[in-house]
Amino acid sequence: MKPVALEAYQWPPSSEVIAQRVGLDPRSILRFDGNVAAMPPASARPAALAKALADVNEYDRGRYLPLREAIALRHGVGVDQVALGAGSDEFIVLLARIFAEGGTVATVPAYSYSMYGFAASMAGASIIEDPMLADVVFVCRPNNPTGELPDIPDVPGQLIIDEAYADYAGVDALDRVADGAIVLRTFSKAYGLAGARVGYALATPALTEVITSRQAPLSVSSLSASLALAALSLPLDVTGQVAERERLAGELTALGLAPLPSYTNFLFIPMDEPQELVDQLMDFGVVVRAYEGGLRISVKDELDDDVLLDALRALTRGDDLPSRPLRHRRATAETLLTVRLRIPGEGRVFVNTGAGFYDHMLQQLAFHGGMDLRLEGVGDLETGEHHVVEDMMRTFGEALDEALGDRRGLTRYGEARVPMDEALAHAVVDLSGRATANISIVPDPGMAAHAFESLAQTARITLHVTAAGENAHHVAEAAFKAVGRAIAQALVRDGNQVRSTKGSL
Ligand code: PMP
Repeated sequence: MKPVALEAYQWPPSSEVIAQRVGLDPRSILRFDGNVAAMPPASARPAALAKALADVNEYDRGRYLPLREAIALRHGVGVDQVALGAGSDEFIVLLARIFAEGGTVATVPAYSYSMYGFAASMAGASIIEDPMLADVVFVCRPNNPTGELPDIPDVPGQLIIDEAYADYAGVDALDRVADGAIVLRTFSKAYGLAGARVGYALATPALTEVITSRQAPLSVSSLSASLALAALSLPLDVTGQVAERERLAGELTALGLAPLPSYTNFLFIPMDEPQELVDQLMDFGVVVRAYEGGLRISVKDELDDDVLLDALRALTRGDDLPSRPLRHRRATAETLLTVRLRIPGEGRVFVNTGAGFYDHMLQQLAFHGGMDLRLEGVGDLETGEHHVVEDMMRTFGEALDEALGDRRGLTRYGEARVPMDEALAHAVVDLSGRATANISIVPDPGMAAHAFESLAQTARITLHVTAAGENAHHVAEAAFKAVGRAIAQALVRDGNQVRSTKGSL
């Protein structure tokens, strides 16, 4: 039998394809078209996968009971009310098949997530306008792509409330479950696990049994289930994302664009010909999504959102385009670190690897180095700080090396003396292209000298540091600040020559 021709779900092009089209490095393509988190969650660490890997030859006979229990606990429902799936998309397709095969589907609002139409066609159902007449009614709450929070109608058909973005809205419709509604949730958005593909349905025990009896057994992998369980072990905090959404909305409004109020992690800007702006932004490596009647922009974090805003300012006001932060990622079995670095920057620094003291030290270096630095990630801190601190400095050094490029036009040398109370540090730096570290830190709080050696190696710089005092914290802090100030001097532009008689550094 020949398969029936259906309209497939439309995937936006990959970053590689876009990069080739607009002539940029794929790493510099910034995606504001997926409504996903800017970074993986702190819980997504190699250690979270260890048990699942040790048992990866087995099926999980308990069908991820600890995860289902944790979800049940989170929402105050019974564990027999939780069905797990490979993303909430699995349930959208499955539920249309179970409840609307050959029948009718309506969506609320009428203008909503495209998967509902796809699911209806997979089920041989037609989309109709009136929710009162439909076999299945998908309520997208909050709604994608407009970000609004629709009212939930009382309908005779099967009500499915898709709460993919409800964590940002702070309201849910779980009280409708007892009346027979099915609520869909996902780990792809606020939990930052889109790639893991884990979603779930909440329903009455009887409906949950109907749903699970029609699913393929264990559609979620044990590795993904482990990541979801680890994510639930940390409190979910979306306040930063919500604040950033409002900041972005304010900046867009100042540019004459008018985003609708949003209950989600994205903004919708009504406009007649959105494709034109989408294409223009794509030339800057900034990917947003056009819809009928508007443009949808995912909210990322300040550094990424500022790249989008800079591109918009260049397009709409003809402002000069500032240099973009360089992005660099380093992944090993021990650590997973992402760095964004702009030199010179404005001293906007944020370092969070969990190695608290050295996070603070690198922050000092970058701030006094006049850089914008955002370094985030996780590592095997359970083995001590060594791997994380070393990799943090190596990753930062790799990014610095790349940001320096051919080192043309830089002063090259820098020197600074910095006190901190009784401690005094002296740093001399040469952006030499050769990795040399001559470090004396007395007393060393533990990893300071090694941190500078790691930096010198990957940044390919010469670093001389002497620091001494009574208090190890003071000594290290003075040293990191001194290195930052010395680097800031060395970075000052001085003509367009490579400052070496050899002609290269
Ligand atoms: N529902 C809505 C409204 C969405 O926007 C999305 C993601 N685009 C999903 C469901 C699917 O999420 P996932 O399959 O990743 O859980």
